[in-house]
Amino acid sequence: MDTQKTFFDMLVPKVDKAIDRVIDAYKFSQSLGLGKLWICFSGGKDSVCLYGVVKKAAGKMCVPLLDFAEFHYNVTGIDPPELVQFIKEQFPFVCRDLYKESMWQLIERKQMPPTRLVRYCCAELKEKGGEGRFCATGVRWAESTQRKSRGEFEDIGKTKAEGKILFNDNDEDRRQLEHCIPKRKYVVNPIIDFTDEDVWQFIREENLPYCKLYDQGFTRLGCIGCPMAGGKRQQEELAKYPKFRNAYIRAFDRMLINRKESGLETKWQTGQEVFDWWVGNRKENQTIDSQGVLF
Ligand code: SF4
Repeated sequence: MDTQKTFFDMLVPKVDKAIDRVIDAYKFSQSLGLGKLWICFSGGKDSVCLYGVVKKAAGKMCVPLLDFAEFHYNVTGIDPPELVQFIKEQFPFVCRDLYKESMWQLIERKQMPPTRLVRYCCAELKEKGGEGRFCATGVRWAESTQRKSRGEFEDIGKTKAEGKILFNDNDEDRRQLEHCIPKRKYVVNPIIDFTDEDVWQFIREENLPYCKLYDQGFTRLGCIGCPMAGGKRQQEELAKYPKFRNAYIRAFDRMLINRKESGLETKWQTGQEVFDWWVGNRKENQTIDSQGVLF
């Protein structure tokens, strides 16, 4: 008998664990009256994988998928058009949650470009929604060192006094938790221990759709020009999507006018100069302080 395990055999226990995490979250959400799960869906491979896991969990609980969970996509306005189209076509049931201010308006109002250290845009464009609900995300440890500190279950917005362990609450703790629900967000990260290979294997085995940009060399999808991606990738993305490049330059132009009117110091003269600095074409030792001043 062939005892050698295939890659899929090794993936099965991970998938089962992920399904159990989703079911635990669903039961907890129901017990607190928080309703169905709130799924954070960006359209990338991790979201597609998460969708597959949630679908299996709903099936195991014999609950129709859309009674079990609602899927939410935060419209950023700077995602690749192919990704936006993919979500519309393949996942028409996903709710599209609109931003209050676009990236261009944010740049103008904040009076500095978003940077790795000051990424004000994430809170406005990416992380909104799900307050007072139990949310599921596609966060994985393999995605970044920053994410290594993330857990399977998280309780966002709790105070120290409220710092109870989610699934072991006694009645007293539970009452406190219920009390604080409007302010808090509970999070489950079901595929947190999946590697990139696990995600792709699962997508293939389950025959799930994925965005065509992955077949064109993209390994991660998200905001075009994201400063977190680093200058080289920013440049590649903005060369592929020149309309977004031009929109950034125009926003930086307006940002400079705004800085001038507010009496804020800057050595930048044009939006193009800001853009060149922003994508890494900066002069040696040229940098920006936390107030957005180039020096
Ligand atoms: S551009 Fe990057 S930092 Fe800004 S919202 Fe998008 S992912 Fe977050």
